[in-house]
Amino acid sequence: MDQTTAPKASKPLPAVGDRHVDPHSYPDGIAFLDGQYLPMSQAKVSVLDWGFLHSDATYDTVHVWDGRFFRLDLHLDRFFGGLEKLRMTIPFDRDGVAEILYNCVVLSGHRAAYVEMLCTRGASPTFSRDPRQAINRFMAFAVPFGSVANAEQLQRGLHVAISDKVRIPPASIDPAIKNYHWLDLVRGLYDAYDGGAETALILDFNGNVAEGPGFNVFCVKDGKLSTPAIGVLPGITRRTVFDLCAEEGLVAAATDVSVAALKAADEVFITSTAGGIMPVTRIDRAAIADGKVGPITGRLMALYWQKHDDPAWSSQVNYP
Ligand code: PLP
Repeated sequence: MDQTTAPKASKPLPAVGDRHVDPHSYPDGIAFLDGQYLPMSQAKVSVLDWGFLHSDATYDTVHVWDGRFFRLDLHLDRFFGGLEKLRMTIPFDRDGVAEILYNCVVLSGHRAAYVEMLCTRGASPTFSRDPRQAINRFMAFAVPFGSVANAEQLQRGLHVAISDKVRIPPASIDPAIKNYHWLDLVRGLYDAYDGGAETALILDFNGNVAEGPGFNVFCVKDGKLSTPAIGVLPGITRRTVFDLCAEEGLVAAATDVSVAALKAADEVFITSTAGGIMPVTRIDRAAIADGKVGPITGRLMALYWQKHDDPAWSSQVNYP
């Protein structure tokens, strides 16, 4: 894959608010809002914005690891696809958005960052209920990198509970439009906490496993990988697992994954930009296989992080 979206090294750095910057002075991160770069604490939206009132928004999150964006082109593809499906327009093309994301990262000074681009429906100047009257709002921010799993969980595997909550069906919301419709996921998370687990998986409308709050799931059985096919966000990390499997000669399929199949798997892991490939070793209090992080999971985790240095998969941020 060709990383066409390269940093704009030659341009001078923009100001943050009305200040010209010391790029390392924003530990909480930097946002871009209404044409301005701001410290995160000053990045605020109107309560009248439909993004807030109706969850009428789309977004994407990419990460920077060791000073390099990982698969930014794929994240931009997904974001612009969501904008088109929601009939939103922003005053920037792909290169313009990429430049804003780079600027947010450089101004924040972070070499490991969680970088979000988002667009809300906005609000109508006349309070019209017609979404066509709303002025769409593009925003972006770079904050310190965060992971679904902490260091201990990455080492020993996450403890997950399967909730009976059902992920919003694709006939209602196209899951390829990355969205903030998370009430099902958040309710699933509370079910998991009530049951003593650390995070949740919820179901699709057929009762098979769908996804969790901010991640996709894979299982390995007899050396073959499967991940739910329907009703889930087509995650970039999920896609990366398919790409790694193709390189490694491993068989991976998107298909129905029943609760029973997940629990009977040899290995289970979850995938997210927020943490990469993360092992799961307990589901509903029971160990998966011998309860240890499996060999295929371990191998894919190592390969995933190795790819972060590869110019075919990542692009460098030029810090001053
Ligand atoms: N599923 C949901 C609901 C998500 O919100 C996310 C990421 O935020 C994912 C899956 C994983 O997607 P990606 O690998 O692109 O981060």
